Amino acid sequence: MQEQLTDSFGRRIEYVRLSVTDRCNLRCFYCLPGDFRNFPEPDAWLGFDEIERVIAAFASLGVSKIRLTGGEPLLRRGLPDLAGRLARLLGIADLSLSTNAVLLARQAGALRAAGVRRINVSLDTLRPDRFAAITRGGRLDKVLEGIMAARRAGFAPIKINMLALKGINDDEFEDMVEFCLEHDFTLRFIETMPVGAAGRAATRHYLDLQEVKRRLASRFELIPGMMPGGGPARYMQVAGTRLRIGFITPISRHFCATCNRVRLSADGTLYLCLGQDYRYDLRALLRSGADSAQLRAAIVQALVLKPERHEFREKPRQVIRFMSMTGG
Ligand code: SAM
Repeated sequence: MQEQLTDSFGRRIEYVRLSVTDRCNLRCFYCLPGDFRNFPEPDAWLGFDEIERVIAAFASLGVSKIRLTGGEPLLRRGLPDLAGRLARLLGIADLSLSTNAVLLARQAGALRAAGVRRINVSLDTLRPDRFAAITRGGRLDKVLEGIMAARRAGFAPIKINMLALKGINDDEFEDMVEFCLEHDFTLRFIETMPVGAAGRAATRHYLDLQEVKRRLASRFELIPGMMPGGGPARYMQVAGTRLRIGFITPISRHFCATCNRVRLSADGTLYLCLGQDYRYDLRALLRSGADSAQLRAAIVQALVLKPERHEFREKPRQVIRFMSMTGG
């Protein structure tokens, strides 16, 4: 029988978020400082062979879901090749991607052909000038082109992830609902988290999603809904439509008790919690010539470090790494 990964709190780990680069072509103010240039050297990054070995080890321990993230994953050269290698691994049933979609128009077809099944696009506004301000120079038209190309390539559902930011985009929630209704996308609202200096500074724009839900309910008829692969989001459906709206509330109602994931950064560090600093260096092990049994043993051992929950409220200064290292 296949071994399974279970942490000290009885949670089964079946999901790895894999950051393939910490570089990004946007500079969202809540994620990275505007002058952020300090990227680690690429030789510190895991190569595709190394990534494949680690993910195969996870898969043999019962992990079946992988999400490619970053930084901006589409900046990693050869991403469709890596996607194809991971999709073919025994036990990997669900390969997905989180992207800002700026480069998606060019790559959507190849990613789909490689076996990526689901795409989440981060999009906080539908106004070009506001998009440029939030992302410090990004172009909304590229993102919209990318999303439409993904749809033509056959991705469904496409989920739009919108950070709810008081004083920044809180006059646009209804517009985003209409946009997703029109295009048959799924919409998820996310609360701002104090990850890294930029994330901490952005908490002055924090908005409790219970408020957002109440506001939307005054305009749209919301009924409880479900979403396959929906993770920690709590879903509502707009009555009489196919639109599902998810609310991801790491701060106002955290969901650590059902956490099923770990994160692997581009340099091979395994992070056990988004909101804590517990980590395990898998790169050193990989490069010391460890075989797959040793890798599996290390992963099992690392899991002992997984904490019960984040402490964003109690210790908001705790996570100094940027979100781009672990990919959200
Ligand atoms: N570049 C890809 C993208 O845009 O989806 C993947 C990486 S990005 C870091 C992943 C997600 O993290 C995005 O949806 C982004 O909005 C979110 N994020 C970044 N900083 C955040 C913060 N301080 N609080 C909450 N979410 C954050």
